[in-house]
Parts: sequence; C-alpha cells; structure tokens
Amino acid sequence: MIIVNDLHKKFGSLHILKGIDLEISKGEVVVVIGPSGSGKSTFLRCLNLLEEPTQGEIKFEGESITGKGHNINKTREKMGMVFQQFNLFPHKTVIDNITLAPIRVKKMDKSKAEAIAMDLLRTVGLEDKRDAYPSQLSGGQKQRIAIARALAMEPHVMLFDEPTSALDPEMVGEVLDVMKKLAERGMTMVIVTHEMGFAREVGDRILFMDQGVIVEQGTPQQVFGSPQHQRTQDFLGKVL
Ligand code: ADP
Ligand code: MG
Repeated sequence: MIIVNDLHKKFGSLHILKGIDLEISKGEVVVVIGPSGSGKSTFLRCLNLLEEPTQGEIKFEGESITGKGHNINKTREKMGMVFQQFNLFPHKTVIDNITLAPIRVKKMDKSKAEAIAMDLLRTVGLEDKRDAYPSQLSGGQKQRIAIARALAMEPHVMLFDEPTSALDPEMVGEVLDVMKKLAERGMTMVIVTHEMGFAREVGDRILFMDQGVIVEQGTPQQVFGSPQHQRTQDFLGKVL
C-alpha cells in the first residue's frame, strides 16, 4: 500500500530524516517507537505530505505521490490523521465536526454523512454525544471523536501521532481500545506511540527510529524480546 524509498527531510541545514526505506502492506499495523526528536512526527507528516520530502519517493497504492503534478488533496483524503492535540472545531457540535469534510470535500448528502457519522459514533462508543460541543467532552472523548472524524472520510490508511500523549492516564485505555478495534477490522495503520504494551499487543511490526533512521524493525517479539542494536536496547531499557 505504501512504499517509501530513500526518504530525506531537511529543515534548512538540519538533516532530520536521513534515508528511510519502508514498505507497508494493506491491513498492516506498523508501530513507530523511538526517542523524542528522532523524526517520528516528521516521518508521518511526510507520508501524507504535510511536510514536503527533500529527497526520495513515496508511493501510495501504486502511484508516486512525491512526483510533480500529483494531486495532494486526493491522496490526503485517503489518509486519515490523528494528532496528539485533537484539533476539533470548538464552535461545532460533534456530529458537525464529523460530517463537515464528507459534505464539503466529498459532496456527500447531509443525511448520508450523518448516517455514517452515527455508525462511527457507535464504533467509538459515543452515540450519546452527537449534539455535544468539544468543550463538553473529556480528553479521551475528544480524541475518540477526532478518530471518528478521520474515519468519516473512509481513509485507506490511518496515521496516528502519539494519540494518547496529551491524555490523563485514566483516558488512555479508551482511545487505545478504539485503535485496537480498527486494527481488528483490518485497517492499515501507522502509529507513533510510547504505549509499549499496546505496541506489543496490536503491532504487526515495530520500527525503532533514532536520529532520523530506522535503526531496527521486526515483530514485537523480535524488537521487544531480543533487540539487536545497542540503541534499541538502551531505549527499551529506559521505557519498559
Ligand atoms: P519526534 O516526533 O520523534 O519527537 P520530530 O519529527 O518532531 O521528532 O522532530 C525531529 C527533529 O526535527 C527535532 O529536532 C525537531 O526540532 C526538528 N523539527 C521538526 N519540525 C521542524 C521544523 N518545522 N523546522 C525545524 N526543525 C524541525
Ligand atoms: Mg513527535
């Protein structure tokens, strides 16, 4: 589904991503771990072209998305993204937050968009919040709405950048449970997280990034059970 070839990203003279190669299959759940500042967010943002890669190629569903003349907006519609900060529209209700993009961007009927939104609210366990405003929701509820909103565009892949890092501890589980449900339904996902228990349980593959490269990757059993590189061992020694 996604092929990344020798991806580099520089910000001025700062060389942040130093040659990432990766293939992600349909239905795969790839979890990215690594120290702060290692380039995890930059990598995710390059995948959906929120950042323009400095060098290298990204192919999505067989098509180069880094080449000239590519329609970035069409591709972004197929890539849902969920951030640490939920970025819901504060002056819109939950249902309006979820239906806005399908109606505006996909030109979907309001009634159809609302039916899909109600389905998604059931998926994230928040049917009763359809008319609430974001300020009336807890952090965990806001993040579940943000996930529903991303899903409303019927993305082919979901990118998560530390979706539980801004949450109070008691709300982390409810968000991870939603992500686990998506994984079980076969959604292709790339997830940056510090939740190692979740990574081990839900990840098909773990990538360990440090200083702009993928140092090591493998199954959760391989990476957590017998990390091959010193840097991976040091990192896991600190977080586990
Ligand atoms: P991570 O998500 O792994 O913590 P980031 O991808 O956010 O790492 O950042 C990697 C490095 O790139 C950091 O040193 C950060 O300061 C730098 N960086 C990220 N975005 C920018 C930017 N827009 N301009 C300059 N430097 C940036
Ligand atoms: Mg980050």
